Amino acid sequence: MTNLRRGLLAACGLVTFAALSTAAHADEDKALAHARQLLKKAILVDGHNDLPWAIRIDKKAPGDVAAYDLNGTVAGQTDLKRLDKGGIGAQFWSVYIPGEIGSGFARTQLEQIDIARRMIERYPKLQFATTVADIRAAHREGRIASLMGMEGGHAIENSLGALRAYYELGVRYMTLTHNVNLDWADSAAKPPEHGGLTKFGEDVVLEMNKLGMLVDLAHVSDDTMDDALRVSKAPVIFSHSSARAICDVPRNVPDSILKRLPENGGVVMVTFVAGFIDPEVAKIQVPAMAELSRRTQGKSVEEAEKIADEVMGKLKLPKTNIAKVADHIEHIRKVAGVKHIGLGGDYDGNSDWPVGLEDVSSYPLLFAELIRRGWSDEDLTLLAGENVLRALAQAENVSRQLSKK
Ligand SMILES: [Zn+2]
Repeated sequence: MTNLRRGLLAACGLVTFAALSTAAHADEDKALAHARQLLKKAILVDGHNDLPWAIRIDKKAPGDVAAYDLNGTVAGQTDLKRLDKGGIGAQFWSVYIPGEIGSGFARTQLEQIDIARRMIERYPKLQFATTVADIRAAHREGRIASLMGMEGGHAIENSLGALRAYYELGVRYMTLTHNVNLDWADSAAKPPEHGGLTKFGEDVVLEMNKLGMLVDLAHVSDDTMDDALRVSKAPVIFSHSSARAICDVPRNVPDSILKRLPENGGVVMVTFVAGFIDPEVAKIQVPAMAELSRRTQGKSVEEAEKIADEVMGKLKLPKTNIAKVADHIEHIRKVAGVKHIGLGGDYDGNSDWPVGLEDVSSYPLLFAELIRRGWSDEDLTLLAGENVLRALAQAENVSRQLSKK
């Protein structure tokens, strides 16, 4: 706060200030009530939640789906009560495995799919889903459509057969890379080795088109984004990325790529990770993430988790807020258009969030912020889920067409 503003506030006097703040609260409540009402009708589809990984690395009972009781209040950011409060209609549960482990990718990936499938099976509120029709049906029944998105193409171990098998198990998107380069694709987190996708990388994208598995470009390098957009016959997604023009980190999407989304039909699902939202947080958090990736190279999952606690636990991060997330959303709307935005919080995949967006119950607060900024119900419904549902429906169509040949 500047001295001038402080002086003005003092001159206003306490009574006026209190009146202003009451009026602000009334507005806040109205916008929030509106947001909650809207999310009862609209299908809120979140692109990325790492709950299956949180279950795997839980300190008390690692990997024990039954012990991690989603009916109660868990230590993490996701449980059924909070999902309900957040108005979630469909969730892409991330089946993530670290690329840093160096070997045993397929086995670790199958274990993650097993955890996700058993978790979904366990709760009547969750409904396993693989198609747009499944998602709409689950929503009509008041259940949370539960899809799987695979984070990191290392899991296919350079095999299109493995890719097809993952599709059969229910995987409906694959993030081409995580934080390591592959034999066929460059990651945003490492110096480039291939200049984007190799010829085999292009084959992977085309095979995904054929299957009807969405190509996810979160975590990949700019050249990989560029190549995938050139090759893909179906819309791409960014399951959890934000706008580089607002927060300049390699994980976010540059305007040059945003501009190409109308032609492709793709969707950027904005993430809430504080280090990708606010440059002040990024300054500290992003180098720590790079250090973590370096130090966990070749380590087991258990060893890597200890290093993660050590590296990330000691960070002192400044706070950021909901308005910053709304700024990313509005920037993407400006550059790519309202039909190319979605949400992918990345809950349980990180520990630092903007104030007010700390867990899966928070979405209505973000919608309230956009309502106060003048967003229409129609545009909010597109943002909530209709955009990504359109992209998935288009991918299903492309798959049908390519399979006919
Ligand atoms: Zn991620």
